[in-house]
Amino acid sequence: MDSQLPDSLWAATASPPADYSRISGPETCDIAIIGAGFTGLSAAIHLARKGHEVTVVEAAEPGWGASGRNGGQVITGLKHNPHDLVATFGEEMGGRIVTAMGGAADLVFSLIERYKIDCHAQQSGWIQAAHGPKPYEDLVAPRCRQWQELGVAARLLDRAETAQMIGSAPEAYYGGWFDPRGGLLQPLSYARGLAKAAIAEGAKVCAQSPVQALSRQGDRWLLQLAQGTLNARQVVMATNAYTGSLWPGLARTVIPVSSFQIATAPLSDNIRAQILPGGQGVADTRRLLLYFRLDHQGRFVMGGRSPVDDNPSKADGAPLQAQIRRIFPMIDPSHIDHVWSGKVAITKDSLPHLHMLAPGLVTALGCNGRGVAMCTMMGSIIADLVSGTAPAELSFPVTAPNPFPFHEFRKLGVFAMSQYYRLLDRLETRAA
Ligand SMILES: Cc1cc2nc3c(=O)[nH]c(=O)nc-3n(C[C@H](O)[C@H](O)[C@H](O)COP(=O)(O)OP(=O)(O)OC[C@H]3O[C@@H](n4cnc5c(N)ncnc54)[C@H](O)[C@@H]3O)c2cc1C
Repeated sequence: MDSQLPDSLWAATASPPADYSRISGPETCDIAIIGAGFTGLSAAIHLARKGHEVTVVEAAEPGWGASGRNGGQVITGLKHNPHDLVATFGEEMGGRIVTAMGGAADLVFSLIERYKIDCHAQQSGWIQAAHGPKPYEDLVAPRCRQWQELGVAARLLDRAETAQMIGSAPEAYYGGWFDPRGGLLQPLSYARGLAKAAIAEGAKVCAQSPVQALSRQGDRWLLQLAQGTLNARQVVMATNAYTGSLWPGLARTVIPVSSFQIATAPLSDNIRAQILPGGQGVADTRRLLLYFRLDHQGRFVMGGRSPVDDNPSKADGAPLQAQIRRIFPMIDPSHIDHVWSGKVAITKDSLPHLHMLAPGLVTALGCNGRGVAMCTMMGSIIADLVSGTAPAELSFPVTAPNPFPFHEFRKLGVFAMSQYYRLLDRLETRAA
């Protein structure tokens, strides 16, 4: 694994990191957290605040994984609509999931406020744009209505209002919905800020500390690292799409899929004023979705399914440049400042999963591409579980790991599904 940060827009513009620790020799703690992305760092903050002695061990540096590479769009809720969650998990647990995940963006912005995290955060709302009439009727309209019924000041947008709020060509989107709870942030700065907050709350955060093996020793756990060992009463694995072989079979429960982004040079003031004047982030309803925003210096940032697994080149950005020209004819995307990618973890049911793998060993993974808010909330749910809240009382269900069959053929499966999804997306767009 390359422990350097990718050459991303976020790495180039992030606030500085804290001084991280390292494990040297045999060490002991109450709770060890493997992985310093939003999930692990939020769990560390919430556990430290409850009085636990916490050590976070990260293979590279905090925010190295998806947390420091994403689109920085703070999105509430899961990929499933509130009614579907209640139908699947029942009134009580389904209702708790909806409340927790519906409040996840507020948790992000309250942590930013509480710890004075410098990450260009703005709770300016989020737009989901429909690429055709079918996704508008089947997905966008019911989702918006269901949140409205729950008291959220969400708004359904027609074609004209969508184009006006996004600054897109009128034919680009059929309509959309606006969620006032969402917003934007600089993701690597947010991850580094969470790491500083965890340290301020008393946690130890170790960088360049890949855990090489995990084993049970009596009623405790032993983490083997290159420079030493860490003995812990409980362990949280927060490794999402970067889950390796530490726990047998866990990596088979998710499919890692690459998503990549390009950032243009800063737009001229004139063009910048026309694009997303309200400062929202946007994701569309395509199965191979496009997502975009401006950064704090006026660069246009767009992401989508990556043509390569790792380290995309500027030439790989051509399909996204074509999408920018189609959706935003006034932007000239020929000059790209940054191209980078990261991995999201896909699950069978498109839901994140919380598992108790063994006594004192908990994991949450499967962000399905939506985790700035969700993983921050999941960290606080993990802290409740690890501190002794009964699984039935949590705001998210603890389930048994559910591996993908034929996981070894995942690359072929992802390729085939991508081709199929591209076709469906095209047909629905043509009908717009
Ligand atoms: C390109 C891209 C764009 C995205 N855009 C958005 C967006 O706009 N909005 C949104 O809500 N979500 C978005 N997401 C999803 C979001 O980034 C993730 O859901 C979230 O960051 C996952 O956080 P995490 O802490 O669970 O995992 P990660 O941030 O991936 O962290 C896992 C960490 O575990 C570490 N690790 C793994 N194995 C070991 C080991 N053996 N020892 C020590 N450490 C280990 C890794 O080094 C890594 O740092 C995007 C993701 C990508 C990749």
